[in-house]
Amino acid sequence: MKKILTREFNYSIDYQVSYGELSPFFEGLTKKKLMGTRCAACKKSYATPRLNCMECGKPCKWIELPQEGKVHTWTTCHYGSEEFLKQTPYHLVLVEFPGVSTLFQSQLKKVKEGTITIGMNIKAEFKKRPLLKASDVYFVPA
Ligand SMILES: [Zn+2]
Repeated sequence: MKKILTREFNYSIDYQVSYGELSPFFEGLTKKKLMGTRCAACKKSYATPRLNCMECGKPCKWIELPQEGKVHTWTTCHYGSEEFLKQTPYHLVLVEFPGVSTLFQSQLKKVKEGTITIGMNIKAEFKKRPLLKASDVYFVPA
């Protein structure tokens, strides 16, 4: 049997991310706003913004989303990527907003274990010092 050698090492790199035409979403988070898009032609709306409609392909326009919604579904994560590992276990929710066609994924915080239910009313909160990341917004019970 061949001997397989392994070693551990730290790997770190700084890189620049461009949000391009999705920049209004991240700018919105710095102003405590949730920005989505709506198709100008068929009116389908996207809580996770899309620049072109998935239904008809026409361009979408930016809209401000409601900041309160309901839990569509949820899960508890006991493992995560390096960025979220120290937060485990944490709860991910898919948020339903009134009048919006699609769902929005976020974290649900400030909730007692065993009290999350589908249809639960929740509201957005924003980090005091935004980092231009999707995690600048999270949800709490309303
Ligand atoms: Zn459309």
